[in-house]
Amino acid sequence: SAGLMTGKRGLIMGVANDKSIAWGIAQACAEQGAELAFSYMGDAFRKRVEPLAASLGVELLIDCDVSDQESMDAAFGEVEAKWGKIDFIVHAIGFSDKNELRGRYVDTSPENFRMTMDVSVYSFTAVAQRASRLMTDGGSMLTLTYYGAEQVMPHYNVMGVAKAALEASVKYLAEDLGKDGIRVNAISAGPIKTLAASGIGDFRYIMKWNELNAPLRRNVTQEEVGKSAVYLLSDLGSGVTGENLHVDAGYHIVGMKAVDAPDV
Ligand code: NAD
Repeated sequence: SAGLMTGKRGLIMGVANDKSIAWGIAQACAEQGAELAFSYMGDAFRKRVEPLAASLGVELLIDCDVSDQESMDAAFGEVEAKWGKIDFIVHAIGFSDKNELRGRYVDTSPENFRMTMDVSVYSFTAVAQRASRLMTDGGSMLTLTYYGAEQVMPHYNVMGVAKAALEASVKYLAEDLGKDGIRVNAISAGPIKTLAASGIGDFRYIMKWNELNAPLRRNVTQEEVGKSAVYLLSDLGSGVTGENLHVDAGYHIVGMKAVDAPDV
């Protein structure tokens, strides 16, 4: 069939369950004809990821901890052994100690700062090193970020600092890999209720605030992030690299928030 991604093969990293943003992206890519591999972290997730993978005909299911360089080498070795080359990669991975996703940023511990930067920032560069070698006909790489990189959001703290570094690394990677026909982009998603998001303090309130103040007056869905991901991962986005595409119902453009405006 003539899907937008027919004939393309890609690795989706970060499906934990059917609420994951990576799952929304995987479904949208599969709908457009892409052939997919999934990576997940640890046996605890395998049970939940297996049926999701099976429902999309995904045969390659790889256990990969992105903070472990040997695990990363093994994962990309498996992809290379099965396919030889790949066309795209989705990095939908982030982690921080939830005790530091509340309270003040200034109280961030050195251990959690380093761990958050390693898992949430460096891992994308480590993925890019390995994936770019397999993108022999060019390719497209995508990561997920959040507005807390650009502006201070309550409780986002060290993750906001990490996302700022992730967004900067998207630009550096886009420059390094562009001459090989490899595009590197980010989607800045609005708040979506997922496992990772549930670790953030007052997350329900943040979602409500976004719903009341975004131009579209609602939150976005995993499916909407998936559709925008297809644009960046397919040839529809062939002229786009180093970009940070906001899929947030427009929240990032609002200067004066309307909610709770006093009667003056
Ligand atoms: P999620 O919990 O479904 O996905 C996070 C994934 O990261 C999980 O699959 C988890 O297993 C994986 N992970 C964590 N540490 C890992 C490690 N060391 N090695 C391998 N995998 C590891 O939550 P999500 O919200 O879908 O998160 C996906 C991405 O989207 C994250 O980067 C997140 O910051 C970003 N994001 C989320 C929102 C939101 O509101 N949910 C908004 C903007 C951006």
